[in-house]
Amino acid sequence: MYMTKNVLRNLFTRSATRLYPFVKRDIFENVRGALDIEIDKCIFCKACQLRCPARCISVDSKAGIWSFDPMVCVACGVCVAVCPKKCLHIGKQYRAPLLSRGIISHQGTPRAPKPKPDAPAAGSLQTPSADTAQPTGSIQEAEPAGN
Ligand code: SF4
Ligand code: SF4
Repeated sequence: MYMTKNVLRNLFTRSATRLYPFVKRDIFENVRGALDIEIDKCIFCKACQLRCPARCISVDSKAGIWSFDPMVCVACGVCVAVCPKKCLHIGKQYRAPLLSRGIISHQGTPRAPKPKPDAPAAGSLQTPSADTAQPTGSIQEAEPAGN
């Protein structure tokens, strides 16, 4: 009797589920979807790599390559928060399903190496002459063993 009542009620009430993929749920306001980068703004400082808790970001500062593994990323948003150039973004759309595992890489322009400090001008180094050189320590000769 209870079951019949339940079936009849369900027949005449609205479905509790959606007919996905024909009916999709609205995306929540603060959802964290796919991570993306504006590679032209990146300075390859490695802050995102060092702070990523999933260790899925790799930054090659010499080659100017930023890469990450989307299947390891947990979309925590830490990299976005620590990036000094604000070039990382987490969109509201989820990344499309992948058929195989792969690393996503972006090629940017590596930073120019810092110029080395100027070498001292010739003649500016002072080497002590034999007359003025003072010993800075003493050497004690050891007694020969067994005598
Ligand atoms: S923290 Fe930002 S600027 Fe630094 S390497 Fe990562 S993406 Fe590039
Ligand atoms: S969102 Fe989180 S897990 Fe994903 S790359 Fe950034 S720091 Fe790593």
